[in-house]
Amino acid sequence: MLLVSLPRSYDSSVSTLSGASHLTKTKITADSFRAFLLDEYEHRLLREKEDAKPGKDGKAGKDSKDEAFAADAKKKDKDKRKLDCHNCHKKGHMKADC
Ligand SMILES: [Zn+2]
Repeated sequence: MLLVSLPRSYDSSVSTLSGASHLTKTKITADSFRAFLLDEYEHRLLREKEDAKPGKDGKAGKDSKDEAFAADAKKKDKDKRKLDCHNCHKKGHMKADC
């Protein structure tokens, strides 16, 4: 019943605990299980705090922005080659750049 009520993200932790208990031939009691889960919960809180550090997140955000910008610049470059100049009617630039 306790296992069923756990969030899915705890599945791997629970199977680790079951595996360990099988190997060491110790029975999982409700108390030891709860202690294990509390430990796991605290671990997760710590990890979330680590992930929320501004430096790490800021860097990831910048990287994805740069990628999007690079893709955008590439697209614009490709479009420019197809342009017809309305002033001299040559291809590859716009009237503004003529
Ligand atoms: Zn031109």
